[in-house]
Amino acid sequence: MTEKMNKPGQRICVFGDYRNYFQNRVTLQLLARARELAPAIGAEVCAVVFGSQVSEYVCEYIAHGAQTVYVADDPVLKDYCVETYLFLAEHLIRQYRPDIFLIGATDFGREFAPRVAKRLKTGLTADCIGLEINADGLLVQTAPSFGGNLIATIITPEKRPQMATVRPGTFKELPHNDAAAGRIVSIPVPSDLPIPRVRLVHSERKPPREQRIEDAGIVICGGRGMGSRTKFKKLFEMARLMGAEVGATRPVVHSHWADHDCLVGQAGKNIHPRILFSLGVSGAIQHTAAIHDADLIIAINKNPNAAMMKMADVAIVADAGQFCSAMIRELKNRIRE
Ligand SMILES: Cc1cc2nc3c(=O)[nH]c(=O)nc-3n(C[C@H](O)[C@H](O)[C@H](O)COP(=O)(O)OP(=O)(O)OC[C@H]3O[C@@H](n4cnc5c(N)ncnc54)[C@H](O)[C@@H]3O)c2cc1C
Repeated sequence: MTEKMNKPGQRICVFGDYRNYFQNRVTLQLLARARELAPAIGAEVCAVVFGSQVSEYVCEYIAHGAQTVYVADDPVLKDYCVETYLFLAEHLIRQYRPDIFLIGATDFGREFAPRVAKRLKTGLTADCIGLEINADGLLVQTAPSFGGNLIATIITPEKRPQMATVRPGTFKELPHNDAAAGRIVSIPVPSDLPIPRVRLVHSERKPPREQRIEDAGIVICGGRGMGSRTKFKKLFEMARLMGAEVGATRPVVHSHWADHDCLVGQAGKNIHPRILFSLGVSGAIQHTAAIHDADLIIAINKNPNAAMMKMADVAIVADAGQFCSAMIRELKNRIRE
């Protein structure tokens, strides 16, 4: 079945990034936001899925808000290859002409989306932290810019589709609804797909974290003020005793004290815990932009004037490493009691 999207403004398309599906729910989050935005422009919400044997993702996207799913399901698409996916995406968009095309700001989205935009000669707002529809029916895209020192509001008045990549964790997915119904539109894979210049030799799935930092009720975030990798490791013990997750600032990730998965901020994850412990973190805007939704912030810093201390609900002037050791002792004592 094929169906034309003739009039712009009638479709919001979300590209299905289902790799690392259980760790990365950004496609579901975008479908949820698209459903909220769609009534303002009378649009239908669509998902786009490329791959091989992807019917479970098609069903999942319908259960999470997609009204139509455009699916290219073919063994040749089993492994993501930028050249073939790009070729298909370009053709799909030229044929169905969605007004808005959204992709998660994952490693995949960051590689794929700019290439799609270039092919279509349209704009792309990368790494958005907000999406709205304005009175003119245009997509208002909010994104940090100039190294995060400014939050830019961007519209694409003329070119189509209006394209954005959006940071994982920015929006909340809709609950899974088994009863939801949606249309599935099959996209034929043409025989003249480009021959890929890059071949995937081997891939390995990373074991999932027990709990995703974006969903954690308590996050313990450490900065350069933790002093060393050994001292930073103590945060993982404190987190284990509290049922918390560990977050990190960029210098910590760059020093390999913590994985990139832990990065909180403009270049990493948005978090919204009930309690955020922030140890040895200065409070640069690129970091704090991602923690505004925390209910209670407890900051520990040597410097009472650090921006993080000003932002915190509870500010404790102390050595971060000593504070962490004292917390571990106290938690262990309480567990023994
Ligand atoms: C484009 C761009 C994107 C970026 N994205 C991100 C991002 O996503 N996430 C991110 O975090 N950063 C990001 N940054 C970097 C950001 O600007 C800051 O440099 C970074 O957040 C600072 O990390 P920090 O607080 O750990 O280190 P510092 O700024 O060095 O602060 C260390 C803090 O620890 C305190 N301290 C020192 N010793 C102790 C001690 N013994 N006990 C207690 N406190 C102590 C100090 O008083 C200080 O406040 C980005 C920057 C750019 C330009």
